Formats: sequence, C-alpha cells, structure tokens
Amino acid sequence: MSADESTEQGKRPLVALLSGAGISTDSGIPDYRGPQGLWKRDPEAEKLVTYGHYMADADVRRRSWRMRRDSPVWAAKPNGAHEAVARLERSGTPVRVITQNVDGLHQLAGVPERKVLELHGTSRTVVCTGCDARGTMADALARVEAGEADPACESCGGILKSATVMFGQALDPEVLSQAIAVAKACDVFVAVGTSLQVQPAASLAGLAAEHGARLIIVNAEPTPYDALATEVVRDPIGIALPALLDALAGG
Ligand SMILES: [Zn+2]
Repeated sequence: MSADESTEQGKRPLVALLSGAGISTDSGIPDYRGPQGLWKRDPEAEKLVTYGHYMADADVRRRSWRMRRDSPVWAAKPNGAHEAVARLERSGTPVRVITQNVDGLHQLAGVPERKVLELHGTSRTVVCTGCDARGTMADALARVEAGEADPACESCGGILKSATVMFGQALDPEVLSQAIAVAKACDVFVAVGTSLQVQPAASLAGLAAEHGARLIIVNAEPTPYDALATEVVRDPIGIALPALLDALAGG
C-alpha cells in the first residue's frame, strides 16, 4: 500500500483515521456498543445483538428486526466531521479510515468504499448465517414492513442477520489485518470519538505510535492512550476535526 501511494502521491503523509461512536453522535446516532453504550446498560437490548441469543431465539430475532427497522441510522446524514474526512481524501492526501461504526456515514460523505475498513461490519448489508449470501438491509427491511417478522435467507432459508459483528462474534481477520497494516504504515494516526477501550481496535493507536506515527486523539474524555499521543484534543469533534484535518490537507 505505501509503495503505490508513494508513486501516486509523492511524499504526502499517509493519514489513518480511527473513528468511533463519537463522530456520529452529531448525526443523531447514539453510542450503542461502547463501554458506556446503550447496549451495555440494557441487558435485554444487548441480547438483540449477541450472536448466541440471536441464533437460538426467534423472539430475539423478531425484536432485533424491529430495532433495525426503527434505527436512527436510516435518516442520519454525514456531519461536518465526516465531511472533513472526505475533504482530506479529495485533497490528494492518502487517507485510510478504520471505523468502529457500522453506520456507513464515511462512505456517504464521499470517502471511497475501498478506503474504509469497517471493523464491526456494516448495518447496511444483511448476511445469511447459513450460506453467507448477502443482500441489502433496505430489501430485508422492506420484507419486515410487508409482514415478515424474521425474514429468512431467500437462497437457503437460513437465519439472516445484519452484516455487523455481534457480541460473541470475532472480527473479520482480513479487515483486522488490513487495519494493522495501515496502523503500522501511517505517518499520522487520528483517533476520533473513540474511548480507545475496546480491543483490538484501541491497540491500533498504540501500534501506530510504536511505528513512529504522530498520534492525535480527539475525544471528549481521557483515553488509555493519551500519554502516547503527540496531541490530545478535547474540543467538540464537529469543530476540532475539520480544523485539524484541513490543516493536515494544507500542510
Ligand atoms: Zn442462506
């Protein structure tokens, strides 16, 4: 990756951006999965996103489909922070986004799909737990609206789920290994809106610093990696991130 970027982009630094729930709260999407997230505070809700419960209990699946249908993600739009990332990418600076979010807002803001690594998958796609067939969440939710409370895979009849990494599921090893490669290769690593408490995502910040990257942390609360950071920004993300990334694009 660094080889093709260096011919394509000259000496521009590679910027890696790790985003967590905090980048999407201004878009109206609450923190569900973080250590203080909604799911961790509500055991019944957590069941809806826990693989074992989901696979074993049709009632959990029916409630899970209703939760997906009512998700604030479908009406959400990228905010100024997502747009700043897309602007940095358009400026010609090589950018890779690693995100803990499943909302797809980086891509909606204009970051090319191939430059976004979704550690926890995406809520915009569904996948069959039997045959791995994929489809769009929009199509699956249309079936829910039409009365199928727990729509099955149309290829094999298996249980469908959103293409997110549920509690009890491992991260996709290919996505994780690409994220590790990006963390090792980047010149600047910006961690934004993440408490850096969920592994292995958090350890990417440490890995980047170990490999010589400038580590910049933009988060309202302290994180375990603050001491390793070149810069820690506590200002609101919607203001701080555009200022920071526009400066990187200019310099
Ligand atoms: Zn199937």
